[in-house]
Amino acid sequence: MNPDLLRERIASKRDELIELTRDLVRIPTVNPPGEAYIPCAELLGQRLRSRGFDVKYLRAIGTPGDSDRYPRMNVVAKHKGKQPGKTVHFNGHIDVVEAGSGWSFDPFAATVKNGRIYGRGTADMKGGIAAAVIATESLLELEPDLPGTLEFSGTVDEESGGYGGVAWLCEQGYLSRDTVDHVIIPEPLNKDRVCLGQRGVWWAEIETKGRIAHGSMPFLGDSAIRHMGAMLEAFESSLYPHLATKKTAMPVVPEGARQSTLNINSLHGGQYEGHDGLPAPVVADSCRMIIDRRFLIEEPLDVVKAEVRNLLDELTESRRGFRYSLRDLFEVHPTLTDRSAPVARKVAEAIRTVLGRDPDFVVSPGTYDQKHIDRIGRLHNCIAYGPGILDLAHTPDEYVGIDDLVASAQVMALATWQLVHGHE
Ligand SMILES: [Zn+2]
Repeated sequence: MNPDLLRERIASKRDELIELTRDLVRIPTVNPPGEAYIPCAELLGQRLRSRGFDVKYLRAIGTPGDSDRYPRMNVVAKHKGKQPGKTVHFNGHIDVVEAGSGWSFDPFAATVKNGRIYGRGTADMKGGIAAAVIATESLLELEPDLPGTLEFSGTVDEESGGYGGVAWLCEQGYLSRDTVDHVIIPEPLNKDRVCLGQRGVWWAEIETKGRIAHGSMPFLGDSAIRHMGAMLEAFESSLYPHLATKKTAMPVVPEGARQSTLNINSLHGGQYEGHDGLPAPVVADSCRMIIDRRFLIEEPLDVVKAEVRNLLDELTESRRGFRYSLRDLFEVHPTLTDRSAPVARKVAEAIRTVLGRDPDFVVSPGTYDQKHIDRIGRLHNCIAYGPGILDLAHTPDEYVGIDDLVASAQVMALATWQLVHGHE
């Protein structure tokens, strides 16, 4: 295949690519709660079926949020060539986060202006899904006897953890290293970057306990809020400086995320304030804090947890009346695909061909569905590559550049051609 022909074919489909992106964005698949998943899955399924793909609609019954009102409907499409070859799987999440306020455009009208398409999900990640569809269709038009297998999954709930989407498909065997060789997730990581993985996540709830008493005589009680204050002080004086010294060899972007980080997601102590009037004078008997710790591939999770538990145990020793509980809420291990994996190398090569520059290899500061493909599917040849600027995801006036859509579709098509042919 002449790479120039493939690039020209995709360039000639510019309007089709714009229209497919707009059609997808106009279906408001807002999650939570998981609106309009069925029409969005059907739009993709019908299109791919008309191009010769076998299409299945798969509802993840019983997964979080699944109900008859909000069914967790995924679509999986498969095109098996007559000649043997490798299997390349494109996975995109069809859900978007709520629009929020501050828009200058209707977030679900997919307005085209100044070479961009504006709307919720244009960057994250319906533009990427459309680019991948156009890339695979163009390949099949130019080479109807393309060897190997092209697969496509449009999945739900990435924005809420991916349990009814990619995690479930992995459990059902649709995304497994036994059947799939290479995975590309067209998340908005910018058209000239190859994303190899993500940092780890540990969410936990810390609760300090106290003893209720009258607020005019606090010496008769024991304030859980003051105990939590001591923990916050331990974070400031010891944990934060310690985390700042832990740097990673993972190429995480932005630069600030190239170390361990800790966010305090929330802090609640004392009486509930969601009512009018003044609170009663009481000493707080409970204070709760949710922490969000992002960790590095160099850090074992048990060490990450022990850092926090040790601080709590030290306070139990040193502080009179200090009692606590520590509860795990959520954890994800870091993933890092080898940059010499064929999928990473072939996408990088295609970026050089299409854009004329060397790609950056990056790691995402937060997690995306690659975590499930890695852990449940045990499929390690997986990268994220797609159009759109990462920083625009989830913001008002989210957009995707039309030139970027076309360029990324060209990159995906060139790389896929190499991969299905088994070129490594
Ligand atoms: Zn996304």
